[in-house]
Amino acid sequence: MQTIDNFNFAGKKAFVRVDFNVPLNENFEITDDNRIRAALPTLKKILNDGGSVIIASHMGRPKKNPDSKYSLKSILAHVSELLGVTVKFASDCMGAETAQMAAQLKPGEALLLENLRFYEEEEGKPRGEFATDEEKAAAKKVTKENQKKFTQTLASYADCYVNDAFGTAHRAHASTALIAKYFDENSKMFGYLMEKEVLAVQKVMTDTARPFTAIMGGSKVSSKIEIIENLLTKVDNLIIAGGMTYTFTKALGGKIGNSICEDDKLDLALELLEKAKANKVNMVLAVDAKIADSFSNEAKTAFVPVSEIPDGWQGLDIGPKTEQIFSDVIKASKTILWNGPTGVFEFDNFTQGSRAVGDAIVEATKNGAFSLVGGGDSVACVNKFGIADKMSYVSTGGGALLEAIEGIVLPGIEAIRGY
Ligand code: AMP
Repeated sequence: MQTIDNFNFAGKKAFVRVDFNVPLNENFEITDDNRIRAALPTLKKILNDGGSVIIASHMGRPKKNPDSKYSLKSILAHVSELLGVTVKFASDCMGAETAQMAAQLKPGEALLLENLRFYEEEEGKPRGEFATDEEKAAAKKVTKENQKKFTQTLASYADCYVNDAFGTAHRAHASTALIAKYFDENSKMFGYLMEKEVLAVQKVMTDTARPFTAIMGGSKVSSKIEIIENLLTKVDNLIIAGGMTYTFTKALGGKIGNSICEDDKLDLALELLEKAKANKVNMVLAVDAKIADSFSNEAKTAFVPVSEIPDGWQGLDIGPKTEQIFSDVIKASKTILWNGPTGVFEFDNFTQGSRAVGDAIVEATKNGAFSLVGGGDSVACVNKFGIADKMSYVSTGGGALLEAIEGIVLPGIEAIRGY
């Protein structure tokens, strides 16, 4: 497989798919430029080699073409500043003018294309309302046909393809996956960010050092079923935390008061416990909870056994005994995956459990464990606690990481690696 380090970009034009889907405020100013910074090593390597880059990204979910609210023009000046070159801008990712701008790029020059999602062909999904299923199916067929031309045109701008957009690796879109087939084996590769993400997932899911512990938090079992089921075939310890604790506790006959619970998932919770037993996975559940008399940071609080929560009270975090149990399991692990907080960490009075989990992971990591944090709120947690740099890897991909943990082969990875 070709790698970015082994490729000499001198005199070559590279089509680089990045994830510049950064948040903007009402004045279209960037409020967090991490995603742009994350792609800089890849872009700089190509430019330093004497190559040129055609930078392509989506932003938001535009409903029409064009939609100034989602124009990448808003980020052009900042990309130029970070990259240290004046980046040119193609106000349309298609068209003869854009093709010409790409053709005229000289070594060391960069061109940013307008938002790929201004075209429905990027996602391959027709836009608009359809009166009947037949009409929708017909429109879909046309979009899919047009997608081929769209993809081919994007590919025609460059000599090689670099995918550095892990955030969209779970999408089989034109620029994230389909485009790869227009480049030969030696001319398509991951960028540095994508390489790091793929390696991190591999270290956790396939080249696993044992014991392997996954901490699954968050609000609902229903949103994590597939992940839990897949993890039950991989992990040694599965820690269940957060709101889903109470679905398990109720299923086991406990009293959970007003805690969040999915009553239609009680049987599923028992099935998952059975599966864990069959797979010899140590399922670690909370034994105590920090309860509150309302869903508020200012609520009255108490610590009680997790299965004895009085009516009118709800569990908003784990208690100290559970913190200790979780921490001991984590500290004895060699591979750790953390997805989801142990409680309502947005309220300062209910962050302690998540903080304890974070601290235990820091210690395990110091002692040589590989720790991967990702999939939404646990990333917010490690940032809030200032421990992101003490984890082995904090993923930039929410949905993409979750699908990878579910065991799904991501189209963006498959398109380059072939599996
Ligand atoms: P998810 O998006 O499924 O990872 O869920 C993250 C959310 O779960 C966060 O906003 C937490 O506030 C919420 N959460 C965690 N524990 C609880 C709990 N005990 N009760 C209600 N919400 C919770």
